[in-house]
Order: sequence, then C-alpha cells, then structure tokens
Amino acid sequence: MKAHDAIYIGGEWRAAASSETIAVTDPATEQVVGHVPAGSAEDVDAAVRVARAAFPGWAATPPAERAARLAALRDALAARAEEIAATVTTELGAPPQLAAAVHTGLPIAVAGSYAELAATHPFEEKVGNSTVYSEPVGVVAAITPWNYPLHQIVAKVAPALAAGCAIVLKPAEDTPLTAQLFAEAVHEAGVPAGVFNLVTGLGTVAGQALAEHPDVDLVSFTGSTAVGRKIGALAGGAVKRVALELGGKSANVILPSADLGKAVAVGVANVMSNSGQTCSAWTRMLVHRDQYDEAVRLAATAVAKYVPGERVGPLVNARQRDRVRGYIEKGLAEGARLVAGGPEAPLETGYYVAPTVFADVTPEMTIAQEEIFGPVVSIIRYEDEADALAIANGTVYGLAGAVWGEPEEAVAFARRMETGQVDINGGRFNPLAPFGGWKQSGVGRELGAHGLAEYLQTKSLQF
Ligand code: NAD
Repeated sequence: MKAHDAIYIGGEWRAAASSETIAVTDPATEQVVGHVPAGSAEDVDAAVRVARAAFPGWAATPPAERAARLAALRDALAARAEEIAATVTTELGAPPQLAAAVHTGLPIAVAGSYAELAATHPFEEKVGNSTVYSEPVGVVAAITPWNYPLHQIVAKVAPALAAGCAIVLKPAEDTPLTAQLFAEAVHEAGVPAGVFNLVTGLGTVAGQALAEHPDVDLVSFTGSTAVGRKIGALAGGAVKRVALELGGKSANVILPSADLGKAVAVGVANVMSNSGQTCSAWTRMLVHRDQYDEAVRLAATAVAKYVPGERVGPLVNARQRDRVRGYIEKGLAEGARLVAGGPEAPLETGYYVAPTVFADVTPEMTIAQEEIFGPVVSIIRYEDEADALAIANGTVYGLAGAVWGEPEEAVAFARRMETGQVDINGGRFNPLAPFGGWKQSGVGRELGAHGLAEYLQTKSLQF
C-alpha cells in the first residue's frame, strides 16, 4: 500500500500539526518503505475532542446498528485481506503464510465475533427489582504494539465499537501502515465520522499525550511492562479505567503421561511462530527428569525445520534483535547449554536471530525469568508435579501456558496454574475465550464477552 501522509480524524485524512514523520522499515531488507506523520500532543487533543463530540450519538445508536457496522468492518477487512497480509509482511517481516492465516484471518474472525456479540449482548438486564443497564465508558485511548499489528488493534477497537464507545488509536511506530489500512476499512464500513480516529506517532509523544489526556475515560494498552506501569500509574492518578495487556513467560508443562513427541514439536512451533514475538508464547518448556534427554533431542530436531528467511521471519527492528541476542549471550554466561542457534546472525541482511534452544536451564536464570520476545526456547527439568507447579508459577508473569498429559491430570494441573489461559494438549484458538494476565501480565481481559465488558459501565435503576 501507499502510506498516507495524514492522520485520520473526524472521518477524513488530515495533515498533522507538524511535518515530522516516522520512517517505516522492512525488517527483512532493512530498507525504508514509507513514512507516516509523527503526530503531536496537538493532534491527539484534536482527535480526543472529535471523539468526545461523536460519542453521544454512537452511544445512543441501537446495538443492532452498531452490530451492522461491525459486520461491514469485518467484510471490509476481508475484502482487503491480501493487501493487509502483504503490508504485515512488509513492516513486521512475517512470512506470507503466517501473515495471511494469523495476522489477517484471526482479526477478521475477531471483528466478526463482535458483530455477533453487539447484536446479542444483554445491554439491559432485570435483577430482582432493578434494571441494570450496561453503558459505554466513553472515549477510549487504544495504544497498541507491533507484534500482531492488526489483531492488537481489532481486539480493542471492535469491542469498544460494540459497546458504543468512541476511540482514538495510537498504533506502534514500527507498524503504522497496517493501522492506516484498518482506518480505511472502518471508513468503508460506514462507522460515523469521529467515532474512530487514528493518530500515528511516537509513544513518548503521541502515546503519552493520549494516555494523559483528561478527556479520555479509559486507556487500553498492550505492550511492555515498563510502559504499562507508567500508564497504570497515570490512570490511577486520574481515577480512570485502564486495561493493560503486558508481557509473559508462559510455561509449557509436559507431564509424564503426555505424547512427548507431539508436545515438544508443538511447543517449539509455538515459540518459533512470529519469530517468538508473542506475549503468550510458551517460552519455558518443563519436562520430567526421566524424559528430559529425549525431549532435548526432539526439540533439536523440531527446531531445525525453522529456517530463517523461510519459515521464520526477522525480528521487527535492530533494537529488538540486539535485545534478544543479549538474552542469548546471558543464557550462555549463566551456564545454560546451547542445543541449537546462538547469538550469531543467521543471515547477512535483515534483523534475524537464529532459532535457539537452551537445555539445562534452571528456574532462576535470567532466560527463565524475563520476557525475551524472540525465537528462544528454554528447557527446564522438573522432579515431580509439585516441583513442576512451583516452577510454572515461579515468575512475576501469568499470561498463558500449556499442559500436556492424560486429560484429567492435565486439567487438574492447569487449574493450579497462576495464569489467564491454558491450552490442554494443544488446544485450539477460540476468539470468544477471555485472554489476559494474572499477576504482572496485566489488568483486564480481551476477546469475547469479557473483552466487551471492559468497555462498559453499569447503571442500576431500582423500582
Ligand atoms: P512499548 O511498550 O514501548 O510499545 C507499545 C506501545 O506503547 C507503542 O504504541 C508505543 O508507541 C507506545 N508507547 C511507548 N512509550 C509510551 C509512553 N510513554 N506512553 C504511552 N505510550 C507509549 O514496547 P516496545 O518497546 O515496542 O517493545 C519492548 C518489549 O515490550 C518487547 O521486547 C516485549 O517484551 C514487550 N512487548 C509486549 C507485547 C505484548 O503483546 N504484551 C507487545 C510488544 C512488546
């Protein structure tokens, strides 16, 4: 696509207040592919004012009509599926198949799920002698990361639209072109002018101005724990609603009763997908000591299929690549055993990191505690189930996880995990299942009815 040299406010593309721009780079070629406006606090303020003015009309729009606009949004995204996938490949570096199936297909399904939820959700309920109304919270600030450029946007904007909120979106610096395509789809879907607005810009300028804006009622943020903490503190100070989707260090627990070959192969695939840039990735593989050596052999075989530049794309930028390589060096320095990959660049051009497997990782090591956000699997040995549970729960995070084994045993284990979502024997993605963190992985939920509830506030009338 051709980049817009404008921001989208009040249903039209307008010049930003300053002429500063942000360069967009293809991480596979390291070439600049376009520029977008670097929006300022002035642009953010203009967008929030327009959203505030549009809010009452959209809030009063019958849910069936909001549902119709969401269905049209799903269709507009589907009509542009090829362009979206190609754009995600260009600015994120995702291999074409992943870009089509996951980066494009999944958010289209999520948009569709909110078209249905908007039509069927009980926005008005009788509770004893009361009528309880679920009303939209107001103007929403959506601040999104680059790792799933369209999904992270749809997971916030679709439920906010379904609820009747007005939105200002500030997408990640690295992936603004996908956000511009999304804005075009919203426009085509006939969402009234001002209900959805897009301001591209730097996190520390446009993002911060949006998070601090006094006329924003809810800030929904996905990204790093460091920025999440700041946004949470700002929201706390202003007593406004906040939803934070932060990092993870999820455990892939392989019980002795599991199909070991499948559990290891799917576990490795889960981390390699999107070059490991997935907050819910199962980055810690927990294996019983009797099966440990076999699991390490299986992981080495499985990871060999992930060829950089073919099945595995680059990391999003040089900073992320260097960060991930730093973690690999730290793993080596702390005594983990390298089974595959390592810190050396696998290709000359592009921000690639070699698919990496570490064995003999102990739970206290940095690579077993901190979010790496790259194609790195750490295989940790456990003695018994109690030990496995202590290791699984032994980080500050609690976003996702997996358990493999005899189904009843696996469910019993998963119920004791301190985490928001667990896949049993592989699981299957469900766009209606609530997604979100326990502990420092975040506050609030996305997707399905739980995701919709984030954008609603209740009012009860007693009779
Ligand atoms: P980040 O938190 O800096 O960026 C996320 C979003 O927040 C972007 O839109 C950014 O512009 C904006 N932002 C940055 N500073 C801001 C501020 N002060 N106020 C308001 N908005 C601000 O994330 P990053 O630097 O791109 O990635 C760093 C690490 O974050 C990764 O290595 C990974 O560990 C983690 N991360 C997690 C997720 C996730 O899905 N949970 C996604 C991306 C990154």
